[in-house]
Amino acid sequence: MLYFALVLLFIAFLFFWQSSRQRKAAGLPGGRIIYTDTGGWNKLEKPLYYAALELTGKPDYLIEKNGQIIPVEVKSGRAPEAPYDSHIFQLASYCLLVEKTYHKRPPYGIIHYEGRDFAVDYTRELEASLLDLLAEMKRDERRKEVPRSHEQASRCKRCGYRDVCDQSLV
Ligand code: SF4
Repeated sequence: MLYFALVLLFIAFLFFWQSSRQRKAAGLPGGRIIYTDTGGWNKLEKPLYYAALELTGKPDYLIEKNGQIIPVEVKSGRAPEAPYDSHIFQLASYCLLVEKTYHKRPPYGIIHYEGRDFAVDYTRELEASLLDLLAEMKRDERRKEVPRSHEQASRCKRCGYRDVCDQSLV
């Protein structure tokens, strides 16, 4: 029995290690759980816009803290173990918009799920992955059918679009 439990523990560790490796390879930070006081959250009236990338978006809140501006994205529903990739990219685009609008680079952004908040570092790697993704989306806009770009069921598992995606692997 102890042997069986140890094998299970090892498999669980392997899955955890592999998913964090894949995440790092994609340049996505995992996000860390933090406590935030919603009292200091300011609602944004108008969307932010960055003409050079034709990018627009409206974070749910902005927090001003120690001279920094931190975007917050609120998601309904039960909190996942780690933020979905699509949510991380959405937050990263808000970090980019905040930097371009206020000329201050947010060190991180926050994804607020029901009962759990994740801080996601806005690293140079995440920014580069976001810019790649935006360029890819621009190219795909001109194409009628866009095939899935990977064979990783774990990515689909974490994806916020899997319910409507006809190419989901899970
Ligand atoms: S569910 Fe669809 S959109 Fe999401 S990662 Fe999988 S293939 Fe991509």
